[in-house]
Amino acid sequence: MFDKILIANRGEIALRVQRACRELGIKTVVVHSEVDRDAKYVKLADESVCIGPAPSAQSYLNIPAIIAAAEVTDAEAIHPGYGFLSENADFAEKIEASGFVFIGPRPENIRMMGDKVAAKAAMTKAGVPCVPGSEGKLPEAPADLIKLARSIKYPVIIKAAGGGGGRGMRVVHTEAALINAINLTQAEAQAAFGNPTVYMEKYLEHPRHVEVQILADEHKNVVYLGERDCSMQRRHQKIIEEAPAPNITLKERVRIGDRCVEACKQINYRGAGTFEFLYENGEFFFIEMNTRIQVEHPVTEMVTGIDIVQEQVRIAAGEKLTFRQRDIRIAGHAVECRINAEDPYKFTPSPGRITTFHAPGGPGIRVDSHAYQGYFVPPNYDSMIGKVIAYGATRDQAIRRMRIALSEMVIEGIQTNIPLHQDLLADTQFIRGGTSIHYLKNKLAKTPKV
Ligand code: ADP
Repeated sequence: MFDKILIANRGEIALRVQRACRELGIKTVVVHSEVDRDAKYVKLADESVCIGPAPSAQSYLNIPAIIAAAEVTDAEAIHPGYGFLSENADFAEKIEASGFVFIGPRPENIRMMGDKVAAKAAMTKAGVPCVPGSEGKLPEAPADLIKLARSIKYPVIIKAAGGGGGRGMRVVHTEAALINAINLTQAEAQAAFGNPTVYMEKYLEHPRHVEVQILADEHKNVVYLGERDCSMQRRHQKIIEEAPAPNITLKERVRIGDRCVEACKQINYRGAGTFEFLYENGEFFFIEMNTRIQVEHPVTEMVTGIDIVQEQVRIAAGEKLTFRQRDIRIAGHAVECRINAEDPYKFTPSPGRITTFHAPGGPGIRVDSHAYQGYFVPPNYDSMIGKVIAYGATRDQAIRRMRIALSEMVIEGIQTNIPLHQDLLADTQFIRGGTSIHYLKNKLAKTPKV
């Protein structure tokens, strides 16, 4: 096992990785930007290294500075968290070339999954069902594009091969709008991701977002840890997640889980990973694979009792998984609310000083947050300041506990999306379970609170 790990991230996930390392008896080095210097989680780490000014391009995305920090602190392995460099194959390669261990998948797997066209091709080959669409990148001739869209049937969605974070997508409802939409998405994809390749998919009108968590070690052992439902989204960004997904039968879980495990074996995958699917009319359609820890991993931890971050570390150290598929039990239900520093209905970011911070507690409540009273939320990064996770024997109990938790939680000095969560936790459709990915957008359009 490692003696010391460097955490190349910030905020709640930097703290989460630190906690996992502590439990494993591993020392931690946290790298940070100038604005994050005084954060408590930075002080809690065994060592910290300032790697640059606030803008991420000069700090959290600065590969040479991160590797230099690992060198001066004698860290043996680097955990990338999520976002930032976590799905950057060049980063993983450079880490390994510099003699450190990258806590994540092999660079070739990251690279393949980072190109969604290549990812879909690999998954189709591995027998994972995909959203119907263009096989590979789009043809060039407008006549061929029109023919393709007709064969897929409108509405279609144009997506950037290199896209991520819910950006680089455009829905097309009519043939008249098709060519223009493709050109615009290509231009945006080039500007945002440095890759103009786009592809076409059937736009599903009532799907749920259901994803499967997997773990794979270096010794060809692969397991799935059940699924999560992340359908409550705004602008393709998840807000509430839960495990297990409501109304997914054991038979469906086993069938899709087995497919994911088989695919991992075929591509020789290592580490934690998530297969994301759209689920409609009882069918799963693969959309992408995330080759990193995800924000919503705690709900799976709560229902399986497995610490996914610790497993990532053990796998990177070359250890064998200590459980097999038959040992994994899904018990109870967990719900996660992402707490964002933003206006709850206008969604404008609300950085600033937190003047009062009171975290909830009680049975089944877990709070993963780096925030505290007096903490300054910098304007430079993502607005998520933490996550509240509620566990219960049943979905109903988990939701009740979440309502109590959010009613206890106090964050003052900045705005948060807690009021939006409270609305959703009282929403009859959400309570019933199984709402589609378009539910929140439609609800907000119907009952504007602004
Ligand atoms: P990203 O990498 O940006 O997260 P994804 O491919 O995972 O992109 O898609 C993000 C979200 O966009 C999905 O959760 C879903 O809400 C929506 N989406 C993507 N593809 C489709 C589709 N074919 N039909 C309907 N919605 C889609």
